[in-house]
Amino acid sequence: MSTEQIRDGQSGGEGPLPDGSPPPRDYSSLTIGVLALQGAVSEHLQCVARCGARALAVRRSGLLQEVDGLIIPGGESTTIGRLSSLYGYAEEIKELAAAGKPVLGTCAGAIMLAKKVAGQEPLIPLMEMEIVRNAFGRQRESFETELEIPVLGTEPFCGVFIRAPLITAVGKGVEILASYGPGIVFAREKNLLAVAFHPELTEDLRLHRYFLELALERQNAGRRPAE
Ligand code: GLN
Repeated sequence: MSTEQIRDGQSGGEGPLPDGSPPPRDYSSLTIGVLALQGAVSEHLQCVARCGARALAVRRSGLLQEVDGLIIPGGESTTIGRLSSLYGYAEEIKELAAAGKPVLGTCAGAIMLAKKVAGQEPLIPLMEMEIVRNAFGRQRESFETELEIPVLGTEPFCGVFIRAPLITAVGKGVEILASYGPGIVFAREKNLLAVAFHPELTEDLRLHRYFLELALERQNAGRRPAE
């Protein structure tokens, strides 16, 4: 079977592909919410749908109870943070995370999840990490670079950075999944993922699939009869 066929979802196998990338599996049982207050919402919805899961734009907080995982998109963290508290999302997102459902924060979304944000109060403090907003300065407001991300396989991943933050320190329970220059750009703490760049602005679905795998694991664990 060619890699292309495998990538098109015809492999029923368990575990990562030979290059280490997440397997394209049947994700149709999953509903993934994208917090739709501001920012790159439609791009994430499209990526989720292209992976074969149901994508739901979360425009009222009650919808968070329907999702198997949540993506907090890039945009402006102060705006997303302010609206999240105003409409009561912040508490529901904490509950969703505490229930073990995966949350992926990209760029501004990653800032939202950090317990420490340099120079300001945290927004939805969930991950043991410190993050610096707009860490690359004016000269490098936006750029693309190839990143080594072993959990996504051996092929480099195109990191699109737009006024991006950088994770400068992580706590004990946080795995560093990718670094760039002086900092960390992809980190995981159990069911929580923080990404400093914009995977939704590339054609590459590996990072979204990695996230969907966590949602699938959580869903399967919930369905298993108690021992
Ligand atoms: N600079 C933005 C912030 O600090 C994040 C930018 C982005 O999400 N692309 O919130």
